[in-house]
Amino acid sequence: MTSVASVTRQIAALDINGKKTASSSSINRPTHAKHPSQSNVTKLLTKFAAPNPFPNSTAKQPSALRHPTTAAASSSHHATTSTKSDPRSGIDIGTYDGGLEIENEKRGEKVYGEAAEELALDSSTSKKCPTREWTLHSFDMGRPLGKGKFGRVYMVRTKAEPKYILALKTLYKSEIIQSRVEKQIRREIEIQQNLRHPNVLRLYGYFHDEKRIFLMLEFAGKGELYRQLSKYGCFSEKRSSRYIDQMADALSYLHGKHVIHRDIKPENLLLGINGELKIADFGWSVHAPGNRRMTLCGTLDYLPPEMVEGKEHSEKVDYWALGVLTYEFMIGSPPFEDRSSVNNTYRRIAKVDLKFPSSMSLEARDLVTRLLRYDPEQRLPLSEVLRHPWIVKYRSKGVIRDGSV
Ligand code: AMP
Repeated sequence: MTSVASVTRQIAALDINGKKTASSSSINRPTHAKHPSQSNVTKLLTKFAAPNPFPNSTAKQPSALRHPTTAAASSSHHATTSTKSDPRSGIDIGTYDGGLEIENEKRGEKVYGEAAEELALDSSTSKKCPTREWTLHSFDMGRPLGKGKFGRVYMVRTKAEPKYILALKTLYKSEIIQSRVEKQIRREIEIQQNLRHPNVLRLYGYFHDEKRIFLMLEFAGKGELYRQLSKYGCFSEKRSSRYIDQMADALSYLHGKHVIHRDIKPENLLLGINGELKIADFGWSVHAPGNRRMTLCGTLDYLPPEMVEGKEHSEKVDYWALGVLTYEFMIGSPPFEDRSSVNNTYRRIAKVDLKFPSSMSLEARDLVTRLLRYDPEQRLPLSEVLRHPWIVKYRSKGVIRDGSV
């Protein structure tokens, strides 16, 4: 039986377009190596969104994936419900709980007017990067993956060959409008659909119905990085270094595309099936209640001095956040945290009041100190982060396999 891991690995190998990313080009980073012979697949991806995990010939597909599904498109208004592992497709996407339909009865309202037009989002009509047409009927539904502020996320599989595993995220239009983020969401979706980097969660396509927007996201098999951090308290230097290596490469790519993330923090990072880091949140997905940084106090921890002081900011805000992230990975809490008072956190950030526990190596301290500079222009450029001894020391020839690095 084909495992999710093996299929996801094959998909990952095809995932990226043929162009070199700005940051990866100068450094030999096997983790992010592009597959040289996939140019035709690249075209397919761009045109039809769902990449073919077995591009060369159908004969190469595992037999389990060659059989046409007998689960014909549902004649109901809903996507087909999947029960456990389908032996014809080989991959267990889990059991669907009917949550989308139950939720849709109770939640959200139809929207009208200008805002409705703003949210009539469909990647098949995208000028820059049109995909094929998708609807909820296009998927077999699997297990719930989580709940976000605007709706649920499910593991799904495309009904059409090649059966492709995705995370389908729902966003309720009326709630987006209530939060007055319709323009932001539209912009962020359009931005993310054009991003291609192994450490940036891919958005393959999107579509909508009367009440909801659906995002077809890359499935992050190992879930939330924040959960791992909570489970272990902190990460080893080796594991932290490898994550920061991937973050620096992804941020370098984003900045090369003039995308500033502005909200780097563990809660916005997911893990792929091989434990590789994926920047997942581009602004539309405010996390559900229970998240520790929903409070004003919590959200402060990653803000740089220029934002705390209400000054103009640039892509260098992400350099600062990378320094905070490095510290939090190794220590388990961010460097300027002060649980007693928000003002104290503000003050500590503005003063760059940085203290290192003795457990942190000198090399790691050096990197953090160079990133957490008050003056944005003095912060270590990402190209230098990728060459920093603490990063180079732990860089592996392969991918991070699991949480045990
Ligand atoms: P969000 O709305 O992005 O906060 O998503 C809610 C939860 O769904 C997250 O906390 C994850 O546990 C899960 N989730 C979201 N996107 C994905 C994905 N692409 N792959 C796997 N799990 C996901």
